[in-house]
Amino acid sequence: MQISKSKALFEKAKNYIPGGVNSPVRAFRAVGGDPLFIKRADGAFIYDEDDNAYIELINSWGPMILGHNNPMIREAVIKAMENGTSFGAPTAREIEIAELITTMVPSVEKVRMVNSGTEATMSAIRVARGFTGRDKFIKMEGHYHGHGDSFLISAGSGAITMGNPDSPGVTKGTAKDTLLAPYNDLEAIEKLVAANKNEIAALILEPVPGNMGLVLPKEGYLEGLRKICDREGIVLIFDEVMTGFRLAKGGAQELFGIIPDMTTLGKIIGGGLPVGAYGGRKEIMEFVSPAGPVYQAGTLSGNPIAMAAGLSMLNYLNEHPEVYTELNGIGDKIVNGFKTSLDKLGLNYTINHLGSMYSLFFTDQEVFDFASAKYSDTALFGKYFQSMLHKGVYLAPSQFESLFLSTALSDDLINKILAANEAALLEIHN
Ligand code: PMP
Repeated sequence: MQISKSKALFEKAKNYIPGGVNSPVRAFRAVGGDPLFIKRADGAFIYDEDDNAYIELINSWGPMILGHNNPMIREAVIKAMENGTSFGAPTAREIEIAELITTMVPSVEKVRMVNSGTEATMSAIRVARGFTGRDKFIKMEGHYHGHGDSFLISAGSGAITMGNPDSPGVTKGTAKDTLLAPYNDLEAIEKLVAANKNEIAALILEPVPGNMGLVLPKEGYLEGLRKICDREGIVLIFDEVMTGFRLAKGGAQELFGIIPDMTTLGKIIGGGLPVGAYGGRKEIMEFVSPAGPVYQAGTLSGNPIAMAAGLSMLNYLNEHPEVYTELNGIGDKIVNGFKTSLDKLGLNYTINHLGSMYSLFFTDQEVFDFASAKYSDTALFGKYFQSMLHKGVYLAPSQFESLFLSTALSDDLINKILAANEAALLEIHN
């Protein structure tokens, strides 16, 4: 595999962009080698500047649920652009997408559009604080909610991949209001709640975390959180930036039947354009300016091009529930194939899987929280990543990420992924 153009671009990029990239994990630090610079993507494939083709298992970190360069979304964007790119004023399309989100996501009665997942979570916490008049909130170790100051404490995703789960630049004053708990441990939450009686505004979590690799909630865990929050007057926030519109039309909350007070969304809503959103119960969302006193704004929020892409994507998902059967079927085929290969090779690695998300952890321990995710052999993951890349499969360049499947993966491509996986596992153990 020849990647000389990517290598040259990376060297040049480092002169002008910190670390040569606009988001840290893209630099491939955790897996060694140079990052690929991407020229284009179509369907199930992504192409680098040297014209190598790779089967996509990241899909822009989630949004490309129907594969890349989907003609329906492309047409919607082009059509919208003919009328101008930004007005900074209300449009009819914003109502349409807001109404659609409220019908699709069970907890959302009112919704505000923003430009990224980071903005969505920062805003949701502010609103929960305004609503309750309390300052503190609970965050789970290893969960990632974007790069807002108060979330960069024991953060997953790129923060742990780069070795900075607690980022410098976050003041002690900010950090003291973020209370940490291990995921999947209701007792830990009870202790925090008892020690901070009537001081906790919100509990935010990824209901099915994907930012320490994919981890599933234990039986009764989400239900337990719901009960504690109800009892204590704590705003329960599901960060469904990854899981929203992916695990089901209405996200993890629909799948598990647990309805949070607020939900943060992103990725798929934008159909690949920069969009985030936060929403929830009417009485909470009525605190948002100009309806209420909690300030939150955005020049490009509800941008007409992003809304057109998102509306096209969400309408399609809303009208085609069979997409989820298809996606889950693809997930099952891949994960079952991986399990067969692991058995055949006598390897006992852990695979966590739900629907169209999965992670292969290089540990034989069960992975159910941040501490157990860290048992994984990240050096071995790095070798596996490189081996898969050389076989034409593009994975997330870190152990602490989920993979995201798209409907563009045909049976033929699934078989190619399975063959690459088995060969890569063999290779890294030789
Ligand atoms: N929340 C979750 C659960 C995420 O996975 C991410 C990003 N992957 C974010 C928030 C932040 O979103 P963004 O990168 O769009 O700011």
